[in-house]
Amino acid sequence: MSSGSPLRGAGMSSGSPRPHADPGTAPRPERRVGAARLDGLGTTVFTEMTALAVRTGSINLGQGFPDTDGPSSVIEAAVLALRGGENQYAPLPGVPALREAVFEHQRRNYGLEPEDVLVTFGATEAIAAALLALCDPGDEVVVLEPYYDSYPACIAFAGARRRQVTLRPPEFALDADALRAAIGPRARVMLLNTPHNPTGRVLDRAELELIAAACVEHDLVCLSDEVYEHLVYEGEHIPPATLPGMAERTLTISSVGKSFSFTGWKVGWCSGPADLVAATRTVKQYLTFAGGTPLQHAAAAALRLPSTYLEALRGELLGRRDRLCAGLVAAGLRPFVPAGTYFVNADVGTDAAAFCAELPERCGIVAIPTSVFYDDAAAAPTLARFAFCKREEVIDEAANRLAGLPSAQLRQ
Ligand code: PMP
Ligand code: GLN
Repeated sequence: MSSGSPLRGAGMSSGSPRPHADPGTAPRPERRVGAARLDGLGTTVFTEMTALAVRTGSINLGQGFPDTDGPSSVIEAAVLALRGGENQYAPLPGVPALREAVFEHQRRNYGLEPEDVLVTFGATEAIAAALLALCDPGDEVVVLEPYYDSYPACIAFAGARRRQVTLRPPEFALDADALRAAIGPRARVMLLNTPHNPTGRVLDRAELELIAAACVEHDLVCLSDEVYEHLVYEGEHIPPATLPGMAERTLTISSVGKSFSFTGWKVGWCSGPADLVAATRTVKQYLTFAGGTPLQHAAAAALRLPSTYLEALRGELLGRRDRLCAGLVAAGLRPFVPAGTYFVNADVGTDAAAFCAELPERCGIVAIPTSVFYDDAAAAPTLARFAFCKREEVIDEAANRLAGLPSAQLRQ
């Protein structure tokens, strides 16, 4: 969708109508193209910020993708599959080798024994298909905010309503009263994300116990987005499905993008009770059926890598986190050091939307104002999100550029 499209929905930049092309003719009434469910959805902030980085030649610390490839053995597995005749439709549930690898991954890492596994087009498709499968119009989805931008969009596509539980800086901790207040009689789904994008929080056991108790009490289905499950530097990733009463009501979602640095492959999966997976599969079969066969084979190889691979990745990312945080501090900003993911939020001491809009011109860096991930725009108006999944020299160059900003200007 281009920024100038005549859709009614206004994203960050799609709000103003296109100037009329021919002043000699009467202005055409603006054509309504998009359905009401597109209201408020324009171009995603990631598309916009990456385009801004390309246009201005800036270092892109906006969209979260690594600037190096994942393991070469996994790439070789994809090549082997491509050359080995694995190029037709995969079975709808996914290629057996990958499904088996997901069962094995859940068992080995968390002691979980899901009843079923479905391979999807990235975690994004699992989230969309599950929400479409589970929500009737008017149902409510309880969701932590700030949130990944596909959540509100897919909730809207399902005709459901979001009821957000706000995580506020500096702790971004779950507030028990806010959780209670967000669960009404139409609540159907609890949509979770831990480790959490964009805050970098890793929900702790006490928070997850509160959530689990609420899910059981109100008979909610839990959709648990765990795409950053292996990117944890402090504390421990606890899958909600491991809590008492949760395995039978939780659909756990993950993908190969973040853990194996293949964000462009879009191979994801969900696992859990047979009925939840079956409902999600019913939607998925009509969205995309089954795709990416050779990459599914390679994803199976990724999941079977020795644990030393993930340990090394975590070590590298931890180093980059600390390098970027040091650079942010040196530049007069105040980072909230994240326990997980590859994002750090920093207080820029001024309106972060204006700050991020000017940053490319001022010092050749793109970051994202964290407020775009909130409904409550006043919750974090001075925070900006910086991605640290970039090579060390890139992070060092970003730190140098930030250091060149007069701190008086930063803290207007
Ligand atoms: N969930 C969260 C929280 C994310 O940050 C992202 C972005 N990678 C996704 C889901 C999408 O994952 P995928 O690229 O596998 O669709
Ligand atoms: N998950 C990535 C982020 O938060 C971006 C994914 C996307 O571009 N849709 O930066």
